[in-house]
Amino acid sequence: MQTNELISYLDGLLKPWLVKDYAPNGLQVEGKSDIRTIVTAVTADQYAVDRAVELGADCLLVHHGYFWKSEPAVITGMKQRRLKALLSNDINLIGYHLPLDIHPKLGNNAQLGQMLGINNIRPLEAGNDTCLVLRGELEPSLSGDALTKLLEQQLGRSPLHIAAHSRPIKTVAWCTGGAQDYLDQVAAMGIDAFISGEVSERTYHSAVEQGTDYFSAGHHATERGGIKALGEHLASQFDVSVTFVDTPNPV
Ligand SMILES: [Zn+2]
Repeated sequence: MQTNELISYLDGLLKPWLVKDYAPNGLQVEGKSDIRTIVTAVTADQYAVDRAVELGADCLLVHHGYFWKSEPAVITGMKQRRLKALLSNDINLIGYHLPLDIHPKLGNNAQLGQMLGINNIRPLEAGNDTCLVLRGELEPSLSGDALTKLLEQQLGRSPLHIAAHSRPIKTVAWCTGGAQDYLDQVAAMGIDAFISGEVSERTYHSAVEQGTDYFSAGHHATERGGIKALGEHLASQFDVSVTFVDTPNPV
């Protein structure tokens, strides 16, 4: 398919205009005009770029692309090496950040909720369809240890569990990636547990003092779902081959 055609399809699906983001969504680095082979990855790191080159990909499609609001504009070092490899191999880099967190079916949050078998999934802020945090209920409710095991089974990585109470966990909220600071908002709503990807020193105190269990399940691990689901969706809709490349990132 044509690169333009893929971009307009992805824009129509993920609607990047609905959210204010801090990286450009869509085509970030232009490559060849025809796409047959797509490599998907959480991040356009050198590992993923190298695999895309090896696999003869026409497009690298990611959740974390380049050109973040706060990053230096100059193209040197790590950034130069990544861009050089993409440009010299004519590989398109396409990235969708927040739109791929919040998509109601293919999004990272929706995929994590589905993996954990959570019921009655809805935005934390009622009626806000672009809310970055989702909530729902575990049926039956689980102990903290059982939820730890479930996360480990589903994500292949043992989460850090900060236990703040000993009651069963029924109500849960979650947001993939580095969203630990939504914990205060979640705790104020009396939700039993909050799951995200990363953790800070302050997270421990917020969890324990406000009585909401916290699970740090890995930024990379919690954000594989969206890009994998998006790749599978594209392979089912178009005549393209899609391969997911999983950089071994323990964070
Ligand atoms: Zn992320």
